[in-house]
Amino acid sequence: MPTRTQSRGAVRLAELIREAERAVVLTGAGISVPSGIPDFRTPGKGLWEKVNPMEVAHIDAFRREPDRFWHFYADRFASLVDKQPNRAHEVIAELERRGLVRGVITQNIDRLHRRAGSRNVIEVHGSIDWSVCLECGGRVALDRVIELLEQHPGAPECDACISPLKPDVVLFGELLPDAPLSEAYALAAEADLILCVGSSLEVYPVASLPGVTRDAGGRIALVTQGRTPYDGDAEVKLDGDVVGELDAVLAAL
Ligand code: ZN
Repeated sequence: MPTRTQSRGAVRLAELIREAERAVVLTGAGISVPSGIPDFRTPGKGLWEKVNPMEVAHIDAFRREPDRFWHFYADRFASLVDKQPNRAHEVIAELERRGLVRGVITQNIDRLHRRAGSRNVIEVHGSIDWSVCLECGGRVALDRVIELLEQHPGAPECDACISPLKPDVVLFGELLPDAPLSEAYALAAEADLILCVGSSLEVYPVASLPGVTRDAGGRIALVTQGRTPYDGDAEVKLDGDVVGELDAVLAAL
């Protein structure tokens, strides 16, 4: 059923996906906005309205005052736990099921790609699934962390050594973990198409991945609102709503 959003762009992107042999998807906060998760880098939205995320979600804030850090972060966990994947996550999972993409590299910590059925998901910023003890290396699953937060406000503690747990996500001031990042670079370097969805591609090092693909001779496709540094390099750019655009691409496949 042709719709207005099934533009020439959507048809062209479907074509690129069909032609590619080693396509990879890269997603950012924009894909989770239709699931009710605001992009926290956009000021004045939801729970980030009254605080500066760069300050409260900073590794130094965690080290200095773990209880205060968790007072804030518990709300973030609570706001993410019940969220459901949306149609855009489902389309990407479907592309993988059909063997059209090799995997998804995501900056999101919300687990929604895996919940939508994507299998090869590289979470370069970690996810809320686990919290870690920086003292003994212990790992505690989300359910248990929520239980601890309900029992006692403030920082949940490691069962083994009573140190405060840290969410296993990349905080401001922290480096990205090596293993997922190298995996992401390898996928991007091998890719003949990198499909970037819902990311302004401004936050390094993830922002460099489309360039890695391009420099190795691969193509770049963008499904995102607003400008990106790769607009001039992209074979196609769809800048409507991510759900409508990806649905149209799937319909054109
Ligand atoms: Zn511990």
